Amino acid sequence: EGPVVVVGASLAGLRAVESARKTGYAGRLLLVGAEEHLPYDRPPLSKAFLDPGEDPAVPHHRTEEELRALDVELRLGVPATSLDTDAREIVLGGDEQLRYDRLVIATGARARQLPGEQLDGVHTLRTVEDARSIRRALDGGCRMVVVGGGFIGSEVASAARKRDVDVTILEAAPLPLVRAVGEQMAAACADLHARNGTELRCGVSVTGLEGEDCVEGVALSDGSILPADLVVVGIGADPVTDWLTDSGLQVEDGVVCDETLRAAPEVYAAGDVARWHNPLFGRMMRLEHWTSAAEQGAAAARNALAPAEATPYSTVPYFWSDWYSDKLQMVGITAADEVTVIGDLDDTRWLALYRQEDLLVGALALNMPGKIMKYRAMIGRGSAWQDALAFAGR
Ligand code: FAD
Repeated sequence: EGPVVVVGASLAGLRAVESARKTGYAGRLLLVGAEEHLPYDRPPLSKAFLDPGEDPAVPHHRTEEELRALDVELRLGVPATSLDTDAREIVLGGDEQLRYDRLVIATGARARQLPGEQLDGVHTLRTVEDARSIRRALDGGCRMVVVGGGFIGSEVASAARKRDVDVTILEAAPLPLVRAVGEQMAAACADLHARNGTELRCGVSVTGLEGEDCVEGVALSDGSILPADLVVVGIGADPVTDWLTDSGLQVEDGVVCDETLRAAPEVYAAGDVARWHNPLFGRMMRLEHWTSAAEQGAAAARNALAPAEATPYSTVPYFWSDWYSDKLQMVGITAADEVTVIGDLDDTRWLALYRQEDLLVGALALNMPGKIMKYRAMIGRGSAWQDALAFAGR
């Protein structure tokens, strides 16, 4: 019998190995990771990690001792380069074959780059190295442009404002965040930038970057050039599936899985890389959220080790994002027939509820951390819209 192998040593991969041990599996367990680091947490990279002051440490999830106590063989700094599901074998670093008995794929996502050659001073933000480069540039004082008005771009802009760095966010769409929070609430989120002195320009796209070696400006679709010596590109992420090309797995914007996170016999996927059937909403989903990556990692390993008793993984999607001194939290889905705002959008606290037919399907809150999880539970129970309104005091 081969070992249990987990590919991708970040949040989902870590939770997979921890869960394998928790279920009582005592055999060989390997965690393979392309990065040199022990598993570390990504959300702080666009938040506290960028704060002024001493250089922060890598935000590891666990110490080496904690991982050693789990009796996990760590293969860090080496990527899996291919998978053969018939032979039940992966290849590491292009030449080392490794047989598995069960496989969990947790290779996450990588940041999308701007097309064309990259200049110094242009960064995406996915890894701790990316965050360090952005920190250094902010420390040096700079003129900053953020490409993309999504969550990561917005958080980086917030970090810049904390240091009084002038920052412009460029968004190609008429409004940012429409996919994440829906048409109705996008403007209310975007307004947080104006309140905090960040310029947000929508409906403009980047046509090129100016500069020889180092970036000096960003050329825009309206013909203008915006001077910049730090450009952070936050235009989304793509699931890391290139190593699965000849695996026979179905890959379509992620590894396609059933509701138990199974992609093929003995092969499961979890986290940002997984597209699975979420039974709660009766549809395929791929989430790029911390909470689902952690939960799926644990569920995938459990199901991989006991396929006969495999349980569906269903969840109400949840993510948070910290902008300036504000906390945005979204639960559920945004495809709604109606959105009702409770409170005043000019205020520092508000709540928006999303209705589909006669059900509550989503909720977005600004600075209401106590409340939002109650709505998450209501969505999970299939609560009626009228009950949600009554709970909100309407
Ligand atoms: P990843 O964290 O992407 O890890 C995948 C790992 O697999 C990586 O270490 C990668 O190097 C490795 N890998 C890739 N290919 C291979 C290979 N072939 N072989 C071996 N290893 C490989 N979510 C929220 O809900 N709230 C937030 O506030 C929030 N903030 C975020 C801020 C930033 C800057 C980022 C980048 C993400 C943020 N997220 C947030 C999202 C959250 O961090 C992700 O959903 C989570 O990290 C996904 O975990 P994962 O293990 O699936 O994938």
